[in-house]
Amino acid sequence: MSKNLSKYVDKSMDKQTGVEHAFKRTKIVATVGPACDTYEKLLELTRAGVNVFRLNFSHGNHEDKLKIIEHIRNINKTEPYNIAILGDLQGPKLRVGEIENNALHVVAGDILTFTNEKLVGNKDRIYVSYPNLHEDVKIGNKIMIDDGKLEVKVIDIAKNGDVKVEVTLGGVISSKKGINLPDTKISLPALTEKDLIDLDFIIEQKLDWVALSFVRSVKDIVILRSKIDERKSKSKIIAKIEMPEALTNIRDIIVESDGIMVARGDLGVEVPVEQVPLIQKQLIRKCIHRAKPVIVATQMMESMIDRTKPNRSEITDVANAVLEGADAVMLSGETATGQHPVLVVQTMRKIIVEVEATEYRYNREEDLKPQTHSPSFLSDAICYNACKIAKDSNADALIGMTQSGYTGFMLSSYRPKAPLYIFSKERTLINQLSLSWGVRAFYYAEEESLDNILEDQIEILKERGFVKSGDVIISTGSTPIHLHLPTNMLKITKLD
Ligand code: ATP
Ligand code: MG
Ligand code: MG
Repeated sequence: MSKNLSKYVDKSMDKQTGVEHAFKRTKIVATVGPACDTYEKLLELTRAGVNVFRLNFSHGNHEDKLKIIEHIRNINKTEPYNIAILGDLQGPKLRVGEIENNALHVVAGDILTFTNEKLVGNKDRIYVSYPNLHEDVKIGNKIMIDDGKLEVKVIDIAKNGDVKVEVTLGGVISSKKGINLPDTKISLPALTEKDLIDLDFIIEQKLDWVALSFVRSVKDIVILRSKIDERKSKSKIIAKIEMPEALTNIRDIIVESDGIMVARGDLGVEVPVEQVPLIQKQLIRKCIHRAKPVIVATQMMESMIDRTKPNRSEITDVANAVLEGADAVMLSGETATGQHPVLVVQTMRKIIVEVEATEYRYNREEDLKPQTHSPSFLSDAICYNACKIAKDSNADALIGMTQSGYTGFMLSSYRPKAPLYIFSKERTLINQLSLSWGVRAFYYAEEESLDNILEDQIEILKERGFVKSGDVIISTGSTPIHLHLPTNMLKITKLD
């Protein structure tokens, strides 16, 4: 290897890590919980195909999270991966508290009491994390528990704040399960006190992505953005779409956020459940058109929490998300508390790889061209045409350079057939781009001349076994190099 490039290819094990190497385009986000929070398990999950680990701040404490963060950072240091960490803020979510033995069986007709007094819940009384519950609900209002798996109806409201309910749809209530009040308007801010404390932790720990639950309007994102900017944090924002209000403001929310999560769990409780599939499809399309990563989440492989094979409908669900062009598919309880966290990732990966091997893929090229009125039109046009040329020349690699992430997200949004390699000197971006469809990102910081840069990048890919002689490579970049302009050049190379 020539000159000083060895520092960029120190992860030379790539050639041996067959799994990650034959790599999939659609990314996998896995929620970390007690079932997978050791270094060994996290590494196994990574090797099985996880690109982003999600820490759900609704569960566990900061101490546990610190250990997990350290494990993931160690994996990134010693193994050939750039796994991103997504901190998921609970937002104004109502939950039950701890439940005796973590399971309370109830059947239709049972009478329960919700209280704002902190206690371990049982058949008599159950703590709900919402002091205003008794003021906001009315007799007859429906309350859903655990993404609507259970339903109760308010039958009495006592002066001391206790709310008596009758079970209409029975099941098992376990600790910290969510509560939805579809009949009631709840009066909580977008970022609760707990969220602000968790956000401090997320910023301090420099997590790559921060997700906000129950986004209702673009204002919620603006508030979160200002807190992140105030602290000069580089964390990027995911808006979780799970409220009907968000759908009416969706354009602005997508523009203001850095990515979107289709949070089907609560979405399916807050809007009629039969609307969820088309909402998912539309959200994915809108996000691709704005070059913002989009995650499809909740119950993708739910039956594998305690089984070794997924339902046929779950296989089709994952496959359809891939066909719709989602950047990433997500696992929640399957990896956080399930019995087969590694197997579920392996299974999901197999479905993704199988679908991606076909010609049925989301193709933005024929769908939407760069917009002439957009302020980024000229660099968008280069990205668009780079992908077109890559397709026409059946290229083996498409290379982009980015400092803000924009070119990475933009090239990815065309869902190119050629493997996509993004180079950046911003180390946080290398991890952040792990969420983006098809992107494989590399750290690279040389800036002497464009000739050298283009050569180096190909050399790095060669060294890591991604390209070989005879390959056609499409490179994009910007010149003059020291001005750090948006992408403005395009080059084709045929490797000797
Ligand atoms: P959200 O609405 O934010 O998705 P959730 O409660 O539905 O929250 P998920 O992250 O979607 O949670 O799913 C994770 C599952 O694993 C939940 O059923 C949760 O109860 C369980 N769990 C238990 N401990 C943890 C933990 N430390 N981290 C994450 N999940 C945990
Ligand atoms: Mg959930
Ligand atoms: Mg949720």
